[in-house]
Amino acid sequence: MSTSGGLTFTVTRNPDALSADRRTELMAQPVFGRVATDHMVIVRYTEERGWHDAQVKARGPIQLDPSAAVLHYAQEIFEGLKAFPTEDGGAAVFRPEANARRFQKSAERMGMPELPESIFLESVDRLVKIDRDWIPRIEGGSLYLRPFMIASEAFLGVKPASEYLYMVIAAPVGSYFSGGTVSVWVSETYTRAAPGGTGAAKCGGNYAASLLAQAEAKKNDCDQVVFLDAVHHRFVEEMGGMNIFFVFDDGSIRTPPLSGTILPGITRETLLTIARERGLDVREEPYAIEDWVADAQSGHLVECFACGTAAAVTPIGKIRMASGEYTIGSGSSSGQIASSLKQALLDVQRGKVEDRHGWVHKIF
Ligand SMILES: *Cc1c(COP(=O)(O)O)cnc(C)c1O
Repeated sequence: MSTSGGLTFTVTRNPDALSADRRTELMAQPVFGRVATDHMVIVRYTEERGWHDAQVKARGPIQLDPSAAVLHYAQEIFEGLKAFPTEDGGAAVFRPEANARRFQKSAERMGMPELPESIFLESVDRLVKIDRDWIPRIEGGSLYLRPFMIASEAFLGVKPASEYLYMVIAAPVGSYFSGGTVSVWVSETYTRAAPGGTGAAKCGGNYAASLLAQAEAKKNDCDQVVFLDAVHHRFVEEMGGMNIFFVFDDGSIRTPPLSGTILPGITRETLLTIARERGLDVREEPYAIEDWVADAQSGHLVECFACGTAAAVTPIGKIRMASGEYTIGSGSSSGQIASSLKQALLDVQRGKVEDRHGWVHKIF
């Protein structure tokens, strides 16, 4: 037992935790998000009592009344972060305070209660500790953590709910994409977020709205979809769940600015910091689709990559849209800047280089 923000976590170990052999088997080739660990965290909120009843317990189904607000009006937010194995046999989480703060901002936008940072941090800490044997100690492996909050009040009226569940689940993961480059489909039909909307909040609704565009990308033989701004249908915003960077032949790097319609990625911000410290010419400026196409064709654009917690840094080799297909750089292998930024990111996340920013939160 311990307290966090005045809250006491009770811990009940899963009596049916998987055997070491079965766990090893499941963790050999983890497909992203398919394998569940033995435990979860659940904390309740009501307007009268605030946050209470914090538990670490066996992972399993939860009960919701069919009129629970989340099932009807999508009042839901989530986070994604990773616990990385460290060389001393321990584990560290990367910038969890940034996730805790973003979770609060998402909550505010969705009319949900703010979860104190201390509860967020302790919930992550406790789950990583109790499921420590689920951290894959393989090349590229990590334990993906998924904190989320749902409106659980049973009531069909439209208003912010008065009851919520905050939970954390975990999944051992390998690398999200298997090396090489990905191709992206530029959606000229669908947009992800409009000014004044929920684009900067990490909410499930944004993803629901992006799935058809993602399916369209697959239909066009592309791995991922990239969205343009909702006003001009011109400026590159981001992918369905990753931010995007461009590297030019003059050595400059560009990423779209946080305009309120883009999710403020922690990986994006980390890479901006690393690139600026290296003295690179880094710009947060809009980039129009016609320039992207022209620069890819002229060779002015030499690299392009996507970034996010799940996929780290993923080079983009091709863009495709109704007007045609355009290759970036070699098309098939990562550019130099993407590779070196990726390495720098992985090294700091795994505790291989000095952490000068206080980004690495050692758990054990
Ligand atoms: C989570 C997310 C990202 C990436 O954010 P990170 O903090 O870097 O993981 C980018 N775009 C969207 C839409 C997201 O939901």
